[in-house]
Amino acid sequence: VIRCRAAVAWAPGKPLSVEEVEVAPPKAGEVRIKLVATGICRTDEHLLQGCFPNAEFPVIPGHEGAGIVESIGEGVTSMKPGDKVMPLCIPQCGECSFCQNPESNFCQKSHISEPQNLLPDKSSRFSCKGKQIHHFLWVSTFAEYTVVPEYAVAKIDAAAPLDKVCLFGCGFSTGYGAAINTAKVKPGSTCAVFGLGGVGLSVVMGCKAAGASRIIAVDINKDKFAKAKELGATDCINPRDLKKPIQEVLTEMTGQGVDYSFEAIGREDTMIAALASCNMSTGVCVMIGVLDSGSKISIDPMLLLTGRTWKGTSLGGWKTRECIPKLVSGYLEKKFNSDLLITHTLPFAKVNEGFELLRAGK
Ligand code: NAD
Ligand code: ZN
Repeated sequence: VIRCRAAVAWAPGKPLSVEEVEVAPPKAGEVRIKLVATGICRTDEHLLQGCFPNAEFPVIPGHEGAGIVESIGEGVTSMKPGDKVMPLCIPQCGECSFCQNPESNFCQKSHISEPQNLLPDKSSRFSCKGKQIHHFLWVSTFAEYTVVPEYAVAKIDAAAPLDKVCLFGCGFSTGYGAAINTAKVKPGSTCAVFGLGGVGLSVVMGCKAAGASRIIAVDINKDKFAKAKELGATDCINPRDLKKPIQEVLTEMTGQGVDYSFEAIGREDTMIAALASCNMSTGVCVMIGVLDSGSKISIDPMLLLTGRTWKGTSLGGWKTRECIPKLVSGYLEKKFNSDLLITHTLPFAKVNEGFELLRAGK
């Protein structure tokens, strides 16, 4: 058993508390990882507010981390102690029908199919003050050590800087892949990106890499525009500066609406606006943002009847164990610069300050 620090969410709506926890050794088919760095994603905030489906408290959040294998359980063959790895919030078991389908990345061992508050044998490897603590999406990266099933861990290049590539565990891969894999943005096309957090800015990078000729970035926080432009946005719009609804403005700007729109916020009104912003016939709208669990949206079916496509994406459509290491190699080959997404670097003890920065739009 390893004793180390972890940020525990004891109940919804409370700040995280950095505690000493016990992390049990990995069982068969599991890997214990020493985490080196983790990002903060809006999805962790949904969890802290009690709005993440099927989560259980107390829990160690975090799902965007990178680290080094500390020890392996019986039967683990694809990695060994000392390897650099990323825990994956969408596993790739390799055996289910979705893993075997080249069109899908949504492994049936993912959390929508089955809650991931406990490891597959239905027990937790974490405890604190004699209480069992739940895992989050099996990965729980807000801890110095975590235990994850082997099929939810990707081995990455030994040269990878873990404090930079941890973003590939969620935000960067999600946004970049939403453009490249889910929308399949074509060269010369027009795109609109709603929301310019870590995810939306990564969508901008993906649209640019795919050769889009116009990338319109939309956010109510104008402080996000400089970074969006640096990453490839051609226009930046604040819907609060407009007299007309954003979908009307985007349609006028592009003639019939954009070829591809992306919602990277997680709000009902912006999901509908993003859908209505892509052209009525061949337009594709990709939903990335997560609504509070239980929320519903209603749309006019005419929006789809004319031919539009409305899709969702999980982690940008990448088959995780296979593709995340390739993305890391692409980073090392300088094919894109995801370092531009990093706004702050804080020591672990200041994790609550990180959430305050997220809430403040910084
Ligand atoms: P973030 O909070 O960093 O960014 C959200 C951005 O949206 C902010 O810049 C904010 O100013 C802007 N915004 C808020 N309200 C707006 C409005 N009404 N109009 C325009 N802009 C508005 O969040 P993030 O970490 O980039 O995550 C974005 C969303 O993606 C979240 O809902 C998150 O849960 C979800 N997500 C989904 C996946 C997936 O696999 N589908 C993965 C990661 C994150
Ligand atoms: Zn995430």
